Amino acid sequence: MTIGIVGAGQLGRMLALAGYPLGLDFLFLDRGADTPAGRVAPVLAGRLDDPALLAELARRCDIISFDWENVPVQALQRAVRAARGSRATRGPRVAPPVRALAAAQDRLAEKRTFERLAIPTTRFAAVDSRAALERAARRIGLPGVLKTRRLGYDGKGQQVLRRPADLDAAWQRLGGVPLLYEQFVPFDYEVSIIGARARDGSTAIYPLNRNLHHAGILRLTLAPWPAARLERAAATALRRVLQTYRYVGVLAIEFFVHRGRLLANEMAPRVHNSGHWSIEGAVTSQFENHLRAITGLPLGSTAPRGHAAMINLIGTLPAARTLLAETGLHWHDYGKDPREGRKLGHCTLVETSATRRDARARALLARLYPDLAQLPAWPHPAHVRP
Ligand code: AMP
Repeated sequence: MTIGIVGAGQLGRMLALAGYPLGLDFLFLDRGADTPAGRVAPVLAGRLDDPALLAELARRCDIISFDWENVPVQALQRAVRAARGSRATRGPRVAPPVRALAAAQDRLAEKRTFERLAIPTTRFAAVDSRAALERAARRIGLPGVLKTRRLGYDGKGQQVLRRPADLDAAWQRLGGVPLLYEQFVPFDYEVSIIGARARDGSTAIYPLNRNLHHAGILRLTLAPWPAARLERAAATALRRVLQTYRYVGVLAIEFFVHRGRLLANEMAPRVHNSGHWSIEGAVTSQFENHLRAITGLPLGSTAPRGHAAMINLIGTLPAARTLLAETGLHWHDYGKDPREGRKLGHCTLVETSATRRDARARALLARLYPDLAQLPAWPHPAHVRP
């Protein structure tokens, strides 16, 4: 069975690496062949909305999935319909469902989905003009965050507004495309939850992740994060989203923890950076479970194998030999050229206790990022109960 994947980044690469033991083949579509997934599987190179390439992907694959949520939905649907029309068989399935993908591509649709499903989220307003920004800032208040509705990731395409005087500069920087203004949340920390839903409706949900970001980019994930009440609330929210879309595959939701409550920030209809620890830290990785879900296989156990910490390697890769001297450290090099702010790889530790994990993660983080401005305190800021 051949899985077609739109986007050939590190997520696609880790999907392929998880899929080979299951006997799956892969074909990727991305702008160039020199990509992380392109080093382990064939790539159709060209524009992601190129009708001829999408048609070829649809013709050669049994299932189409994504490693990136900003795939051109309409072009993909046209190609899949055409492939179905020209085949005696049913043609490729698309998983996760295109409706979930379309919602996750637009921060406004995403927030409305959370609202509709009674999942608490930040206060927000759509902003399409300078006057609308003024109204949104007045109604929701300052500070706030102005974000592009589409194509934002890792803190790109967003600006924090603290004073009325910031409105002009933010509008000049981001105006001209559809925007979203949301309340700035002085959160205590950030968590995410990841789970899979299979074709038969069964679900498998991973333990809660605690995430530390710097400059909008994830640096560290600790999992399982021992906050049972938050984990239950996050899993309930995840199940609601999985059910509403009759979702097939892996889905992630990121939350702020604010005054002991979860506020959903965004969802990702794909495997997620905060789930990389599951490769070594869970019985079945998020990558394998995504593939099991979309190919109709039973989902695997999401039980943790210990206490995992995952650190992203950003901008430059340290020499593997120095880190691999750490007992039990797992190293993942995505094969990318170094560039500031670029995720080049990650490493994972799995420890026998949360205390040992936290101590080792803290030491490793200090070694990898000595110049990093102070990350928030953890395990918990003193005033926060799990
Ligand atoms: P996003 O692209 O929405 O995931 O935002 C990237 C990061 O920016 C988040 O993980 C937060 O650390 C921060 N951030 C985004 N939105 C807000 C907000 N409304 N209030 C406070 N911090 C935010």
